[in-house]
Amino acid sequence: MSFPEDPRVAESKNVPVRDVLAKLQIYNLTERSGEFFGPCPLCGSEGHNPKSGPCDRFNVNIHTKKFLCRQCGIKGGDQIAMVREITGKTFPEALELLCGDLSADIDPEEAERRRLKAQKKAREAEKRQNKWRQGRIDDARRFYARAVPGSRGVVGAYLRARGLPLDEIPTALKFLLDHPYVKKIDGANVVLHRGPCMIAPIVNWQTGEVMAVHQTWVDPNPPHGKARITHLEVDYPAKLVCGSKQGNFIPLITPEGADTLVVGEGIETTLSAYYARPSELQNAAFWCGVDLGNMAGKMLKVPGQQWSGLPDMNPEFDAFLPPPWVKREIYIEDGDSNAKRTRALMECGLRRAQALRPGLIAELMPGVRGFDLNDVLNGKHKKNTEGQGDDGRN
Ligand SMILES: [Zn+2]
Repeated sequence: MSFPEDPRVAESKNVPVRDVLAKLQIYNLTERSGEFFGPCPLCGSEGHNPKSGPCDRFNVNIHTKKFLCRQCGIKGGDQIAMVREITGKTFPEALELLCGDLSADIDPEEAERRRLKAQKKAREAEKRQNKWRQGRIDDARRFYARAVPGSRGVVGAYLRARGLPLDEIPTALKFLLDHPYVKKIDGANVVLHRGPCMIAPIVNWQTGEVMAVHQTWVDPNPPHGKARITHLEVDYPAKLVCGSKQGNFIPLITPEGADTLVVGEGIETTLSAYYARPSELQNAAFWCGVDLGNMAGKMLKVPGQQWSGLPDMNPEFDAFLPPPWVKREIYIEDGDSNAKRTRALMECGLRRAQALRPGLIAELMPGVRGFDLNDVLNGKHKKNTEGQGDDGRN
């Protein structure tokens, strides 16, 4: 329905979004990059997971006037539609509001209805997410159960190719000879590659359960480095995690009676540190933290600082905590990523551990800037000065 004869229709389209929001008494949106966003005027932040950051489900484009709530579904393309959707008013009432001096309250019944809708949608999404997550954990456990000990071939060859001629392969490391590399592309699972694959368990140390596996596909041809995986001229990383890694670690080396835990981001970095360990770390445990975010846990946002280095201690956020036997925790600081960010994430993780484990000694073992420890062991940092690039660690 439209009322093209009413000159206020044209007039309403000149009312700036900010004024429309003011007339609707909506003041809790943030303006950035040409749009307002924040909690929905109707469904609020019902069902919002705070772990995913501030609620930004509702947005209005200042220029196109298009608005949408991703949760309860209110949407439209102009000021009149915005007033009608949010207040439940008729077209003439909306015009009156936009072009007159009226302001309006949000219809409480409609808001309640939208809140319930958003709540239901969030519950369903959570159920789907949990089911998917459990499926991935089950897959991970199946892979690990099927894998054979790493002492028998592929793992040793791969580690040697990465400059790690270990006398003994850590028992946690296993492999599968013909493991499919599966990626979801355009909604369908596609097998991009099959071949030998190193399988490392990502374990919850509190329960001892395998919660995920870390998979590294190995080139079947000598010298058995990382497999090169390409599909439609796109390169894919040779490593994938399957399952739930958050707060969990790969326990590579855990000597009896150890009271020091050395943690590196990648398997190779951690094993490089182990391989080159000084005598004072002879009896230390060496665990792989899988990725920096996992080692850090959630970082506190401090206004004016990009990386605060301080842990967000909200217990809702799962984060790694060293086992109680750890008296000294050492994070290996890789030098190959954004140095400031890396440092802040590592400090965040260590500070969290110290806050939750009083008396814990926490240390950073610095890496060489531009390279991770595994590269250093292989002498790659020397080549760097000649301008040679590196395909990255891991
Ligand atoms: Zn909504």
